[in-house]
Amino acid sequence: MNIEQESAAEARARLEAERAEVLHEIEQLTNRLETKGDYALGEGDPMIYQWELNLALRDRAQQHLAEIEEALQQLEMGIYGRCERCGRPIEPERLAVLSHTTVCSQCAQRRR
Ligand SMILES: [Zn+2]
Repeated sequence: MNIEQESAAEARARLEAERAEVLHEIEQLTNRLETKGDYALGEGDPMIYQWELNLALRDRAQQHLAEIEEALQQLEMGIYGRCERCGRPIEPERLAVLSHTTVCSQCAQRRR
């Protein structure tokens, strides 16, 4: 196995672990959101606030999941780890902490 294949296998393992984690998070949040009936209290109630917070958290987790799946697809196509803006390889250190990113650190900074 060459270095490139090895890092792809590592990236896949990391992404799959991350996906399992996010799926679990979404499941938990969905369970909590389904008990909205119990929160039938006045507006501004802390329970309502918690429910809305869970909803926002789930939205974010779903967005995260979509990014992970996109990265896994790129891995499948052999284009994972390549910046979608400049086409240069994304820094391994960046991928290690942000495994679902699709842009290199330079392009990520320029985006702001
Ligand atoms: Zn770039």
